[in-house]
Amino acid sequence: MVKIGIMGLTGCSGCQCEILNCKDALYKLLGKVEFCYFPLAQDNNSFEEFDILFVEGSVTTDLDEEKVKKGRKVSKILVAIGSCACYGGVQAQRNDEVTLEEMLKEVYGTTEFPVNVSKPKAVSEIVKVDYELPGCPLDKKQFVYAVAFLLNGVKPFFPKIPVCHE
Ligand code: SF4
Repeated sequence: MVKIGIMGLTGCSGCQCEILNCKDALYKLLGKVEFCYFPLAQDNNSFEEFDILFVEGSVTTDLDEEKVKKGRKVSKILVAIGSCACYGGVQAQRNDEVTLEEMLKEVYGTTEFPVNVSKPKAVSEIVKVDYELPGCPLDKKQFVYAVAFLLNGVKPFFPKIPVCHE
């Protein structure tokens, strides 16, 4: 059984929802995939080892960084999914426009925040990324193809797709 993990960092969870939209197809088509870590979708999760770990969201908090570093250590293949994970996403657009303090003050009315927040970063700025599936959200067909390619030991190839698409 190929062990798959789906990890969410800072993002809107839209990419994970796209995966949920094709989860049944994956089980039906491939039949040898186990989602051993997918907190958005299931209660029982194991974080011990992954053949393929898909990571959604940008690295924006200390917790994000800790999670993705731990995920990299226990994964054979790590795939960044969605524009947040591949490029930093919409939240990274503020990086050159306002300071972190200005942003916190504007959004929350205070610079005090319960977690340590930093500039949103692409996953590849923190750990080695083997493949990237951009898109906002990612294209669910590309996700299914990626799993199929990787299960068969084939390097995935994907055409560039628009940042926003149906
Ligand atoms: Fe949400 Fe888009 Fe980021 Fe995916 S890439 S988590 S859909 S904002």
